[in-house]
Amino acid sequence: MNSAICSARSDQSAALMRYLWLCLLCLLALGLTRAQAETVPLNQHWEYRWGDSPFKDDTPVWTIEADEAQWHPISFPSNPPGREGRENIWYRTQIPEDDWRDPVLYIFSVDLIVEVYLEGERIYHYGEFDAQGKGRFEGWPWHMIPLPEDAAGKPIHFRVYSNYMDIGLWGEVKIMDRLELYQQILKESIDSLIITLFNLLIAALALLFALFKSGRLTLLALGLFSLASAGLALSTSQAKQLLFNHALIWEYIGAGSYYLLPIALALMLQAWFGRLRWLYRSLVGLFLVYLIGALGLSLMGVVSLANTYPLFDLLFAVLVPVMLLCTVYQLPQANSDQRIMLLATTTLTLLLLVDMAVAHGWISWSRIPVGWGSLMFSLAIVALSLRHFIHTQNALAHLNATLENRVVERTSELKILARREADRARALEFGNRKRALLDKMISAMEQSETAEHAIKRMAAHLPDLCEPLPGGLYRKTQHHWELELHWCQETLPSRYALTDTPRPEGDEWHSFRIEYEDPRNGNQLIGMLVVNLDSRNINFEQLNPLTLQNLFLRAVDRINLTLSKVVLQQALSHFSYEDALTGLNNRRFLDEMLSREVALAHRNHSPLTVMICDIDHFKRLNDTYGHAAGDEVLKSVARLLRTTFRETDIICRFGGEEFVVVMPAATLQDCQDRAEQLRASMASQTFTYGTEIIGPVTLSAGISALNPESDTADDLLRRADNALYQAKAGGRNRVISANTELQP
Ligand code: GH3
Ligand code: MG
Ligand code: MG
Repeated sequence: MNSAICSARSDQSAALMRYLWLCLLCLLALGLTRAQAETVPLNQHWEYRWGDSPFKDDTPVWTIEADEAQWHPISFPSNPPGREGRENIWYRTQIPEDDWRDPVLYIFSVDLIVEVYLEGERIYHYGEFDAQGKGRFEGWPWHMIPLPEDAAGKPIHFRVYSNYMDIGLWGEVKIMDRLELYQQILKESIDSLIITLFNLLIAALALLFALFKSGRLTLLALGLFSLASAGLALSTSQAKQLLFNHALIWEYIGAGSYYLLPIALALMLQAWFGRLRWLYRSLVGLFLVYLIGALGLSLMGVVSLANTYPLFDLLFAVLVPVMLLCTVYQLPQANSDQRIMLLATTTLTLLLLVDMAVAHGWISWSRIPVGWGSLMFSLAIVALSLRHFIHTQNALAHLNATLENRVVERTSELKILARREADRARALEFGNRKRALLDKMISAMEQSETAEHAIKRMAAHLPDLCEPLPGGLYRKTQHHWELELHWCQETLPSRYALTDTPRPEGDEWHSFRIEYEDPRNGNQLIGMLVVNLDSRNINFEQLNPLTLQNLFLRAVDRINLTLSKVVLQQALSHFSYEDALTGLNNRRFLDEMLSREVALAHRNHSPLTVMICDIDHFKRLNDTYGHAAGDEVLKSVARLLRTTFRETDIICRFGGEEFVVVMPAATLQDCQDRAEQLRASMASQTFTYGTEIIGPVTLSAGISALNPESDTADDLLRRADNALYQAKAGGRNRVISANTELQP
């Protein structure tokens, strides 16, 4: 029980200690504590000696024997003259006098591995020396070498091995309190850490957006660049060792980030300056191959990672400025964004080149703010991209609004057009339908033999012609205008005074005169057609009242013309003996001629026979094939009559589809034979109209012979007509004789 409590207590105190330690570190980092002892740079009394010391009982002989002639003075323990390919060297100096509490020796970097001896005793090593005094590259960390408190005034030796171009210590070498060193490391790293965090944030956002957004190349380049900058900033910051103490991994991260930089730069330039695409692409390819090759080969142990830097630096120092110069060449055509981009790239490249020069010792050692430079560069690109993005978004929003407006306008225009088109189609269809009705009406009127008959037919068709417009037909009587018929439930005044024109009230009502031209009595008004021409009745916007009025004016014109034609035909038929359709004699001729023939026959005691024939079911034929086809059949029958009967026989069209043949000097038998012959020819003939086959058409006939002395022309015709009636009644397509006994 007690021990459990004890262990819990000790856990708590350990946690408390950790917490306190962290707080202390933070306070140190913030610079709130002040170190008491001085920091002493170790930059005096340095000496070097090429080669490696022999060892005696694990003690290097060179640290204890006094062979002063072999040691040569040097201002700083790095790259002494006369190396001649040598890879081993020793440096030495003396720890200065001072008052430290927990002294440490701080070295910024060593090329490449090192062992440190104080008074012949090894106090620190970095890397492993083999029996030949050689070893492998382990990275370039900073070094903190704890010194005993009584180290002041004692000699200190550095055993160094390097197969790299540099050999020795590098950067700062100084002695200070341990706490002060931590404070210094954190102080000097804080900007790198901030830069790293910023760059990582930018990289994450840019790479994430590159997955979804347009403008991927810019985002990808920015993402890679920020990633490289973050890697570089962190791997060059000294605090990295406090985070994760594995120098070689940091070396790989640093090298990878460094080698990635020109790739990202070339990609970025490609995104902003499209014209030199081939150049940027080639450089991307080249540096990518280098990145993969260098890291891969050093991981496999083929080359040392440290040795991949010089060639890369050479490539970078030559190719990146060339790329920039080529880009500058495009400057006259570049816009302000591209110029800013180029300025940022050039500044950063210059910083990198200066840093490279420092790294190679071409110019004296100082800290180059490459990290800040790369952060500024990233921020500049982010700002430019944001500006671009906002600009594009605004343009898009504007375009969207304009497009939407135009779509709305266009849609309403299209709707109006479509409605108009539909109206136009309906109006056209309406017009066509009415024209067809008018044609039918006119054709029926033309068939009429009298004007009164034609007017009746017109009146029968008028409602159809006007529908759905309300209207009516007023006929003129002796005393007034009488509403003869009306349609569409419109209540119209049933009569008007003769002095007025029948026209119901309202602008939309119109009246049209129905009249004909009589050859003898001039213009005869027979009625007034009144119609309500309000287009709302038919619901077409396209058929305005004017169009409707025109439609009716033309229809009434045709009606009036047809009436005049029928009247004229009727008048003319009084003066003519010829039937207009068939060219046969007409009924008037028959009437005048038959009485004369009867008188002649009585006087000469010669026979006289007549035949009346009528086409069977002619009405049906008309209805099926149309009036024009019926007319053709009538003409064909007339031709057949002419070929069947003798020239001395008189052939007349009695009316409609009835024909009469008067046969002077012919017996009833002769008459019957001819009539049979005609009937048979008819029945066997196929009638056609155009391409249409009408089929066989039959006729029925009645014949009669003149009874000597007593008979009149009327008797003769009446008997033949009766016989015809019997033929029809008996089933049609036959000849019936009126006289039961045949005349000798
Ligand atoms: P049925 O066998 O009883 O004689 O019947 P049908 O249909 O021939 O007789 P109906 O008297 O009922 O019809 C005669 C038709 O002849 C009616 C009329 O429109 C038509 N018709 C009269 N004159 C002409 C004309 O000159 N041309 C044409 N195409 N048809 C006419
Ligand atoms: Mg008939
Ligand atoms: Mg008939």
